[in-house]
Formats: sequence, C-alpha cells, structure tokens
Amino acid sequence: MADRLCFLGTGDSEAMDYWNTNLLLETAGRRLLIDCGYTIKYALRDMGLGVADIDGILITHIHADHCFGLERFAYETRYTHGTRIPLYLPADVYPGLWEQTLKGSMGHSSDGENRLDDFFDLQLIEDRRLHFGDATLELFPTDHTGGMATYGVIINDRLIFTSDTNPLPWIAADRSDRRIVHDCSLQAHNPVHATLDEIADFYPPEVRARMLAIHYGDTMPTRRAQIEGVLAGVAEQGSCIDV
Ligand SMILES: [Zn+2]
Ligand SMILES: [Zn+2]
Repeated sequence: MADRLCFLGTGDSEAMDYWNTNLLLETAGRRLLIDCGYTIKYALRDMGLGVADIDGILITHIHADHCFGLERFAYETRYTHGTRIPLYLPADVYPGLWEQTLKGSMGHSSDGENRLDDFFDLQLIEDRRLHFGDATLELFPTDHTGGMATYGVIINDRLIFTSDTNPLPWIAADRSDRRIVHDCSLQAHNPVHATLDEIADFYPPEVRARMLAIHYGDTMPTRRAQIEGVLAGVAEQGSCIDV
C-alpha cells in the first residue's frame, strides 16, 4: 500500500486562515509529523487526530511555525499519555532547538532538571537519511535563513518537500518525475522565502508543472488563478496524496 502524505497546514507564519505548514506522513500504520508548529493541535483536530495519534516527529528547522508545538507535545506525551515518541532531528538542528529554543520552558519540570531526551526518544540524523515505517526520507539543506540549519525532505524518492526556502538550483535542474511541494510566498519581496514571481523566473516550465505551492498567505484564494498559471496548483490544507 502506498504511503500517504497529508497537508495538515499550508500557511505562512503570518497566516490566520491556514495553519502552519506542517505535514503528516502515514506509513505502515504509523504517523510521522513533519514539523510541529504552534498551530499543530488545531491542525490535527481538523483531521480528527490528537497528540496521542502521532508516532514520531521530524523537524526541518527551528522557526516557530515549524517547532513551537513541540513543548505541548512534550508535556502531553510525557505526563498525559506516558509515552516517549521518537524525535528525529538533523544533528545541526539539535543545539538551536534545545539550548536556544525549548530549554527555557522545558529545562525544568516537576521531575526536576530535564534534557530533551527525557521527553522524546531523540534520534539525531547524521547522514541525512531516515527510515520510518515503510518510508524513506532524505534530507537536503535549503536556502532559507543564513546561519541557521534548515532542511527540506525527499519522501520515497517520489516527492520533494522544500519546507522553507528560496529557489534551489538543483530543483531547477531536476528532470525526474518527482512531485515538488514548494515554499511559495505571495508577498512581492521576501529575502528568505521563494516568491511566486521568483518561482516563475527561476524554474523551467517542466519543473513548475510538477510543483504545488505551500506556505502561502491568506491572500491565496484571490491569487489562485495566478498561482495556477505558474505552478500545477496549490497544496490544499487538509488534503492527502499518495507518495
Ligand atoms: Zn522558516
Ligand atoms: Zn515556515
């Protein structure tokens, strides 16, 4: 049976009408979250799911819309459900995630001093590859915020999810039949996200024909026809595709 990828949220970090761009991979009866932003519980509820339904989490980078839901997950899995699910982190994402982001609120609890692996089964990814259920995930560095470790992920060598990035030359040169779910800011200018105009200029038509927009803002409905003139379409929040 094919693995299934669901778009839990498709918005940018300012969106109110869409949840954070966080994905759910269902494979071999298990569920992996790809990113866990501050809207994650609302997004899961919309899919009829909750914290206890998630079997693992992968984080692409430490911006709030991709990781600020982890504090809730940590406390609920540990103290409500008594579980310790795997947390997959690129090795260079870990220090910023724990030391600079989560430790302030999670470093101490009723159990005393905590480390991140008191809450999660911490799995540092050293070689950019991860196996989960029947799925294979391959991480690649993105061109997002300088000085910060940021990644996208290729799922089953069938779908490229860029997470947050400016346009990437190797994707422009990609002549496989892989689908591409690409960061697509609807702002006129953005230094750290690909804008729709940049995507139109940077990628050849045969690549854009395999591409869906994600991480868009609340103006998406009024810009839909314009997006569909550049890309294959829009990753619809709440929808799922086989991967
Ligand atoms: Zn980001
Ligand atoms: Zn983001």
